[in-house]
Amino acid sequence: MNQPTQISTTSPTISAVGYDVSPLSEEEVADLAQSLNEEERRVLLNHGTEPAFCGNLIDNKKEGTYVCRLCGLPLFASKAKFESGTGWPSFFQPIDRAHIAFIEDHSHGMTRTEIRCARCGGHLGHVFPDGPPPTRERYCLNSVSMDFIDTGQPLPRKTRADRASERVR
Ligand SMILES: [Zn+2]
Repeated sequence: MNQPTQISTTSPTISAVGYDVSPLSEEEVADLAQSLNEEERRVLLNHGTEPAFCGNLIDNKKEGTYVCRLCGLPLFASKAKFESGTGWPSFFQPIDRAHIAFIEDHSHGMTRTEIRCARCGGHLGHVFPDGPPPTRERYCLNSVSMDFIDTGQPLPRKTRADRASERVR
């Protein structure tokens, strides 16, 4: 925690769908992490995996937006969700690829692609090349890494796209 913070950008990176995806500082992440419970910390901050068929969002069929549990960045739309049978919520594409960080993961003797929130670095799950058309990608998520916001419900303050302007003040 004593490492110098390397991020202090004055021109935030804005994704195509209008969100500030410039990485949060360690202090901002630590601040947000105070609201997490033990299981959420284990998954989001320490790259854990929740047990299959235990997550609360697997069978969620409602319309809305899945956002990062930690920083609120929108990650997946309900229309990109599909039933993969794996026991984890699965999507065939993110809301915006700029909202996801793709990291090669060689743990457990396998080569996989880990996915993290591009803004806060929170661990989300993995992406595999065996999904349905049109992308053939399967984003395999931990339920605890996300919050679900029903269509029509206001987005949490931390989610909103005007974060960039608040930061300048
Ligand atoms: Zn995040």
